[in-house]
Amino acid sequence: MSGPSGAGKDTLVEGLKARHERLLYSVSATTRAPRPGEREGVDYFFLERAEFEKRRTAGEFLEYRDYNGHLYGTPRSFIDKALREGYDVVSKPEVNGALAMKSQFPDAVLIFIVPDKFSHLRSRLETRRTETNEQIAARLEIAHDEFTFVRRFDYLVINEEAQPQQAVDDLEAIVRSERYRIHRYPETRLKELEDS
Ligand code: 5GP
Repeated sequence: MSGPSGAGKDTLVEGLKARHERLLYSVSATTRAPRPGEREGVDYFFLERAEFEKRRTAGEFLEYRDYNGHLYGTPRSFIDKALREGYDVVSKPEVNGALAMKSQFPDAVLIFIVPDKFSHLRSRLETRRTETNEQIAARLEIAHDEFTFVRRFDYLVINEEAQPQQAVDDLEAIVRSERYRIHRYPETRLKELEDS
C-alpha cells in the first residue's frame, strides 16, 4: 500500500490487520528519528545510517529508497518467511519501493491510497505536528510527484475523511477477491478438484 504522507495508510493497515489473522505487517527499517509514540520493531526498526548501509550491503533489504533525506528499506527475511508460511503480507513503501517489490514479486498487489481531497493532506500533516513546515512542504511536493505513478498500480482506494471504515471495507474486498484469482490456486488443488 502506497500513497502520500497523511493519506491515513497506518490506520487502514491497522483496520485491515484487525480483520485478517493471516495477514502480517512487514516492519521496515529507517534512518529517520522515531516520532513521539513510535515503537522500535513495531512501527519501524530505527537504525543509524551506518548500520542501515551495512545491512544494505549485506543484501538484507528487498528494496530500499531515500525519501526526503532518510533511508527506508524492506527487510527481506521477514517477507520470505511469512510468505513461505502462507501469510499475506502488507507493507507500505513509497511508490518506487512498491514498484521494485512488484518486479521481485509479480504476484504482489499494489494499492494506492489517497484522501478524498489532496488538500486534506496538508491539514492532516499540520494536525499531526510531527514535521516542520519545511518538511511538510517537501512531503506535499513528493505526494504530487508520487501520484504520477498511480497508473502503474493495481487498485486505487480513496480514504474519505469521515469514513475510514469504508476504505478498510474496500481493502478487505481487494484482499478477498485477490485470493480467488486462478493463478493463486496451486496446480495440485485444481487437479484435485477435477479428479474429485
Ligand atoms: P514516514 O517517514 O512518513 O514514516 O515514511 C515516509 C515514506 O517512506 C512513506 O511514503 C512510507 O510509506 C515510506 N516507507 C516506509 N517504509 C518504507 C520501505 O521499507 N521502503 C520504501 N521504499 N519506502 C518506505
